[in-house]
Amino acid sequence: MVRAEIAATGVVQGVGFRPFVYRLAKRHGLVGFVRNMGDAGVQIVVEGEKKKITKFIAAIRAEKPPLARVDDVKIKWSRATGEFTMFSVVKSEKAGLGLTSVVPPDIALCDDCKREMFDPADRRHLYPFITCVNCGPRYTIIEELPYDRPRTSMKVFPLCADCTREYRDPADRRYHAEPTCCSICGPKLELYDKDGERMDVADPTSETAKLLDDGNVIAIKGIGGIHVAAKTTDDNVVARIRKAFNRPQQPFATMSKDLKTIKKFAKINTLEEKLLTSYKRPIVALQKSSNCMLSELVSPGIDSVGVMLPYSGIHHLILHYGKDPAYIMTSANVSGLPMLIENDEAIRNLKGKVDYFLLHDRKIVNRCDDSVVKIVDGAPAFFRRSRGHVPDPVKLAFKSREKILALGAELNDTISILIDNNCFVSQHIGDATKVETLEYMHETAGRLMNLLGLKKVDVIAHDMHPLYATTTLATKMARRMKARTVAVQHHHAHLAALMAERGLDELVGIAGDGVGYGSDGTVWGGEVMVADLKSFERVGGL
Ligand SMILES: [Zn+2]
Ligand SMILES: [Zn+2]
Repeated sequence: MVRAEIAATGVVQGVGFRPFVYRLAKRHGLVGFVRNMGDAGVQIVVEGEKKKITKFIAAIRAEKPPLARVDDVKIKWSRATGEFTMFSVVKSEKAGLGLTSVVPPDIALCDDCKREMFDPADRRHLYPFITCVNCGPRYTIIEELPYDRPRTSMKVFPLCADCTREYRDPADRRYHAEPTCCSICGPKLELYDKDGERMDVADPTSETAKLLDDGNVIAIKGIGGIHVAAKTTDDNVVARIRKAFNRPQQPFATMSKDLKTIKKFAKINTLEEKLLTSYKRPIVALQKSSNCMLSELVSPGIDSVGVMLPYSGIHHLILHYGKDPAYIMTSANVSGLPMLIENDEAIRNLKGKVDYFLLHDRKIVNRCDDSVVKIVDGAPAFFRRSRGHVPDPVKLAFKSREKILALGAELNDTISILIDNNCFVSQHIGDATKVETLEYMHETAGRLMNLLGLKKVDVIAHDMHPLYATTTLATKMARRMKARTVAVQHHHAHLAALMAERGLDELVGIAGDGVGYGSDGTVWGGEVMVADLKSFERVGGL
């Protein structure tokens, strides 16, 4: 008899990995345990016949749960100790494996949960926070690792007896599903009027749908933040939002019930259909059809409209009751500030701008705007890479010897952390010209480092512009962490990002990005560069 101590890394927490390993070990007649580790990895210790263990390890890779990604499996063999009589899921360990793993992004409601939610015989009938091991919020509710309920914003909702039974039953789909809950023990939705007074309604989601169809503008708290929602078929309603939020031109994202309904106002090709229905559920920019019945004011002056399918129980229910073909679902934020996530700040900031508030009592830990994708030349291109993708890394073609934190420039910022060949790009942060957004950037850097098990980085990269607030922040953080700073020329950074994304090591590129601080101390505009990852030659510009 032998013993194998196995370290599995990748996306292995929050994706049903422990229940999967448990079943696999049982099937192979092995004893031992599986547990989550403090750096998002999973440790498995098994004892049994070597042949069986080898098959078990092969099956970990071959049969992994659909949402898991197994990057690496490290094995340490030794003689069996005989200390186990069975296989079990044991308490998580704060310590890490010393390898890079990552928590999963948020996952759209799965088909099984959706079926149960609309089944009158199910005990979660019409309960919007229904979830299981295969779906639901992850990144947006995680405070700390290892991923267990007490370290998520579900910690204030102790499981009821029925939920506990499911959570402990290895045969159940909710075995160790950390955010699981029901109407008895889980979060609740409440509807509030324009003054923030709680309304006494029997069913907040059907009431919300009715109010939307009547032309009201409603702030709706979802998974990663708060949306401003309204019907799309009434010019006056859309015009009201544009005026109240001072967004004269920016296209509004919309949400529609299903593909059949979307096809009534927009064209969908196979690739777009795949994106729309993926568990990441991004907003996809679709071409409007010739008989599009949505108000021209939804995306004024352009021939496309951003559409997503519902991704949480809250959205599914509202769209189930609603009659409009699509509803505006645009991030609720005021004048360039981060999207609102707290109930009281939403009421305070949106008073006078919306007619009602549909809010719930689960805290959003990591704010995450919707991702926006458009098919360009037959491949998806991101306008915004956020919910559903973060914190999944972008894999680079090279490895970095040092750990690097990169802050954005001034506008439309994200931050990135580079470990080996994994580039962890944060959710959309916004314009760091505002002090609140800069604070949010600082906080996001800290949270992401924490989730990646980093106490410090070696290098902080920032824009070359000496007067950007992000440059000051980089200097401040570098001093605290005793890290080096590296100033990067703005247009070169854009081209380097392209090279990293496409696995190139040099290119001739045009960075048509308006203003950026040049390496000669003057302001540069659109630049033509011959560049590699380290350096560039400016061969033309505006
Ligand atoms: Zn589910
Ligand atoms: Zn319950």
